[in-house]
Amino acid sequence: MSELLFCGTEVLKGVGQSKAEKYKKLGITSVYGLICHFPKSYLDFHCNVPIRQAVMNEYNCLKLKIKSKSKPQSVRSKLVICKAIATDGVDDIEIVMYNNVYAFQYLKTGLEYYMYGKVTENFSGIAISSPTYIYANEKFFIQPLYKLTQGITVNMIRADIKQALSIMRNEPFETLSEDIRNRYNLAPLMWALENVHFSDSRSAIEYARRRLAFDELLRLELGLLIMRKRAKSKTAFKMDWRTNMNDFIESLPFELTDDQYRASLEIARDLCYDVPMNRLLQGDVGSGKTAVASIACCFVAKNGIQSALMAPTEILASQHYKTLCGFLEPFGIKVCLLTGSLTPKKKAILKSEIANGDYDVIVGTSAIIQKDVEYKSLGLVITDEQHRFGVAQRSSLAEKGGSPHKLVMSATPIPRTLALMIYGDLDISIIRQLPAGRKPIKTWAVTGRVRDRAFGFVRKQLDEGRQAYVVCPTIEDNENDWFAVKSYAENAVKGNLKGYNVALLHGRMSANEKESIMQKFRDGQIDVLICTTVVEVGVDVPNAVVMVIENAERFGLSQIHQLRGRVGRGQFESYCILITDNTSEDCINRMRIISSTNDGFEISEEDLKLRGPGDFFGNAQHGLPPMKITNLLCNVELMESAKQCAEEILNDDPTLSKPYNSSLRMEVIRLFDKDIIG
Ligand code: ADP
Ligand code: MG
Repeated sequence: MSELLFCGTEVLKGVGQSKAEKYKKLGITSVYGLICHFPKSYLDFHCNVPIRQAVMNEYNCLKLKIKSKSKPQSVRSKLVICKAIATDGVDDIEIVMYNNVYAFQYLKTGLEYYMYGKVTENFSGIAISSPTYIYANEKFFIQPLYKLTQGITVNMIRADIKQALSIMRNEPFETLSEDIRNRYNLAPLMWALENVHFSDSRSAIEYARRRLAFDELLRLELGLLIMRKRAKSKTAFKMDWRTNMNDFIESLPFELTDDQYRASLEIARDLCYDVPMNRLLQGDVGSGKTAVASIACCFVAKNGIQSALMAPTEILASQHYKTLCGFLEPFGIKVCLLTGSLTPKKKAILKSEIANGDYDVIVGTSAIIQKDVEYKSLGLVITDEQHRFGVAQRSSLAEKGGSPHKLVMSATPIPRTLALMIYGDLDISIIRQLPAGRKPIKTWAVTGRVRDRAFGFVRKQLDEGRQAYVVCPTIEDNENDWFAVKSYAENAVKGNLKGYNVALLHGRMSANEKESIMQKFRDGQIDVLICTTVVEVGVDVPNAVVMVIENAERFGLSQIHQLRGRVGRGQFESYCILITDNTSEDCINRMRIISSTNDGFEISEEDLKLRGPGDFFGNAQHGLPPMKITNLLCNVELMESAKQCAEEILNDDPTLSKPYNSSLRMEVIRLFDKDIIG
């Protein structure tokens, strides 16, 4: 294979440093990376219609000949309008382009084009606005659409990809044997890469995408399987089924819901086998997953074994610590909190105590999985809000101290196929019921014009002794004009929240500062917390009943749902006020959905539909490597084939070290950015 493929894009003709920088913005760092910048969708100019058949106010594809062009007109300081008249041979249509003199100048009078754009009609005639176009004598009628960035046009990308492909064509390489390609009905790699970018046939594009998606899934499955095999090779701690739990369950300050009880039983049953448990506990925000975790920890402690509970943030870790202490210490079960912000001295002492077995339950952030933390006997590892941890992190935890049982808690309802993909062969317990007496959170979306009135409502709640959160998207003032917590708080204490105790909470504060603010908020010394999304996960203050979200358009549906879950945790009626001035269809849609339901499963499904899984499970969120081409939800069949194929390959070559697997091996390593292969 050509070395050039893995050089920076500057090696291409016509790509200088500044263009290479722009490509980097798109995540493209090499020539091969450019080839793997697959189209996000395609425009098919085959399906053009005469002007008379165009559907008004919709996007249509028309075949048009330019009759005349007028001069671009500057309308306002930042608006240039270009107009032309065109015909399909029968009727005329006006072409209108905004701020795109560049595209306009390429339209030539007398020539024919296929144009795709929104068609509208009024008394002055029919118009097509800001069309995408190709020459009618173009070789490819199907035009790929790429993710672009400022300064990179479709035509540039196409030209550069063409060049990149010709480099690869000189010395093509292939990652799958002919046998595998035949059995799984897959196109050769070189063919797939060419056709995904340049093709005039839908079926060829589909076949190309199938191959590329398969590759992506295969690499993922290979990586996951290799990790899983390593975890499975050891045996786990087997616990005693007759462990008495009734006293503990009766001591809890509430009665368990049926779902909590059933989930606890399922977990306890798993703990009594000598195969490591691998279970996902799914439950909407506020469904009471922590109580289930405490039961599991108690069960393990009563068997004389340690358990660890890992949370994604320090705030959450210390909250879990308090909850677990309250529940478990009356039973003589010792709980400790290990986070990154302890002084080195304290940490050292704590670590030796953990190694010594002085503590039964160790709560913390990812600090508890660092190499230097030793356990006496770690039998259970619980990870809260798991989707925030990376795959690599998870596997290092799984390897701590032999082979602990694993419980993953997540508030994101994940479709089953996707869950299997992410977590492997896991079992799932679901808590669907919310604890009795919970009232749905009343949610309104409003514009900034009624902000003052909204705060009137907030003050009324505060005056009744309740507390509130206000969430802003950023910390400091910024060019986007999004609300920033710092200036917001300054203004609020002079204005809408004058006379109330207001405090800031954001990710750039030290762990100690954050913790002390949270403690004051819990104790009721603070009325309103003005914060960023650091409060998103798990924070539990039942007296807080209002959640105001500024620039609500900045947040995804599932994220708003998580944020909203910070209120409505006690006996009081709770409210969520979403403030946004964004009037895009997408935003209005999302606000409508979130205001109309409190069901996390429903919301996440809608979110998936609106954003697609790539975005929904953004890389950081699901801990999986990014998927460029695979729609994880729609490719169940392909996913299963890839899994089967991965198993076959590993049966033959468990560490991918045979020469014919070298390029696969390279890709798996590249994907998991950790030396997962021994
Ligand atoms: P999440 O599933 O979001 O982690 P938590 O475990 O934080 O939810 O529980 C949310 C709140 O509900 C806590 O204040 C907890 O004490 C309370 N809670 C949990 N289980 C019950 C129950 N069965 N009945 C009443 N309240 C409960
Ligand atoms: Mg929680």
